[in-house]
Amino acid sequence: MKYPKLRELREAVVSLLTPAYTSKFPAEPHVPYENFRGRPVVDNDNCVGCETCANVCPPHAITISDDREKATRTITRDYGKCIFCGLCQEHCITGKGVALSDKLFDLAVFDRKNNVEYQEKELLVCRHCGAIITTREHLSYLHRKLGPKAFSSILNLNILNRELRLAEGHDLETEVIDGLKRKDMFNIICPNCLRQVLVKYLSKSV
Ligand code: SF4
Ligand code: SF4
Repeated sequence: MKYPKLRELREAVVSLLTPAYTSKFPAEPHVPYENFRGRPVVDNDNCVGCETCANVCPPHAITISDDREKATRTITRDYGKCIFCGLCQEHCITGKGVALSDKLFDLAVFDRKNNVEYQEKELLVCRHCGAIITTREHLSYLHRKLGPKAFSSILNLNILNRELRLAEGHDLETEVIDGLKRKDMFNIICPNCLRQVLVKYLSKSV
């Protein structure tokens, strides 16, 4: 018959007499330690839907799906897959779109769908070729970052004109149906199509 060693016996007695290291959650509220990395929390007002966080998320907990017809981008965040690495927060282009909470840690749910969050953003789609440009909020954010330099881009200028309502009352919202024309410079078209207009029509006028 084998007898327990003295060291093991002593460890068992000490363990029996010492209080538990773990908290009594959920019977008692748990207070996480300082700098605890909990569930990411999105600030929709400061999230521009740029897609950067989805591109850096290691377990693909953040996914993007674009609907050209409805011109909407849906951002899906599945916190059941999140590993709390903090890369989404670190790489967020606005610096305020998403941040890991230091309090939200309880992700136990009966239905995994309850750990999924959705955001919807308006998408800019090229009126000529249908290419997805980006979200309207993303482009507006770029205006703010670029300041007066934003005026050097016609695409930026077109969005800005609409936001400032300078385009109102002018027949700029035309359908691009029979190929690109000079007037399409004032339409929302992708940089490629815009380049075609510039090369084709502006080069003729110099
Ligand atoms: S914390 Fe990491 S795993 Fe979780 S959503 Fe952000 S990037 Fe993805
Ligand atoms: S990186 Fe920031 S701004 Fe861009 S989609 Fe993610 S949370 Fe929103």
